[in-house]
Amino acid sequence: MRTPFIAANWKLYKTVHETVVFVKELRSLVKDAGDIEIVVAPPFTAVHAAAEAARNSPIAVAVQDVHWEREGAFTGEISAAMAKEAGAEFAIIGHSERRRLFHETDETVNRKAIAVLGAGLFPIVCVGETLEEREANATLDVLDRQIKTGLDSLTGDQVASLVIAYEPVWAIGTGRNATPQQAGEAHAHIRSRLRAWFGGTAADLCHVIYGGSVKPDNIHELVMLPDVDGALVGGASLDVRAFADIVARSRQSAV
Ligand code: PEP
Repeated sequence: MRTPFIAANWKLYKTVHETVVFVKELRSLVKDAGDIEIVVAPPFTAVHAAAEAARNSPIAVAVQDVHWEREGAFTGEISAAMAKEAGAEFAIIGHSERRRLFHETDETVNRKAIAVLGAGLFPIVCVGETLEEREANATLDVLDRQIKTGLDSLTGDQVASLVIAYEPVWAIGTGRNATPQQAGEAHAHIRSRLRAWFGGTAADLCHVIYGGSVKPDNIHELVMLPDVDGALVGGASLDVRAFADIVARSRQSAV
């Protein structure tokens, strides 16, 4: 049985001070949340402060990206080991905004996944089709390519420890989320590919979460789907009460 997994992706929002205030309030709001993995991904500057504020709580911290090298002449970048030292336990990689705005490819996602695992962090690997790809009936092919290349050379044990976030690009920040049928089909497909390529244990243990305009009022119908293990939440995660509500409603769905 996979524990529900709810992650907040704050993108380019929140200062150190705002992060600490949020995490302290979230701690008290989720103190009875039970068996749920809760992750917040602040900007790099607030990662350490978030980890300190979350110490001895059910909240873990993620970075929103990493470089694949350990060190070197890569101005502006941070490594997975640096993220870990700052207190992160997870790293989001391959977010569609990184792919679209910063030219990330399935190959760089793969290098990052290997680096993140090598540093002892857990990757949250984002996949998902654009609207044009969906309308061209290419969704499942796109997912196959992103997963095959993005997870290339990973072992079954490594895949078992991953989180894959299915985020249809047309649903991110648009208020337009996938229908349960669309999400269910994509998640079932991802799970079947994990089973075929990495084995039954990897497929059973890997968390596959949904992202794209998740809110308190639509989380329930999503996490009720058999292959949806939680959510990666952007906009609605900036408000601590909305995010805590999403956490609480995921738990209700799990019991
Ligand atoms: C995201 O940024 O990963 C995301 C899913 O954003 P939103 O919830 O705002 O659609």
